[in-house]
Amino acid sequence: MKRLQCPCCEYFTVESNDEVIVDICDVCFWQYDAVAHDQPDRNIGANHISLTQARKNYKEYGVCKQKFKAMVREPLDIEQQYNQN
Ligand SMILES: [Zn+2]
Repeated sequence: MKRLQCPCCEYFTVESNDEVIVDICDVCFWQYDAVAHDQPDRNIGANHISLTQARKNYKEYGVCKQKFKAMVREPLDIEQQYNQN
């Protein structure tokens, strides 16, 4: 199991076993979506906002969309630094 960096909040919240990843970040509620990550200025995929907008929202509100504010939590220690061990 590897940890991938969430492209929105930049914490290592996404667990991957090299399968297709469908995971929602617990820290910012961004849904990991490789298609959207390649086109960060476009509103495509499951999140229904662009990655660029989601990042702005995270900086401002601590969540990718304000309506999910109650769903998120602070990052864990393990999520704050990538550790391959
Ligand atoms: Zn995140």
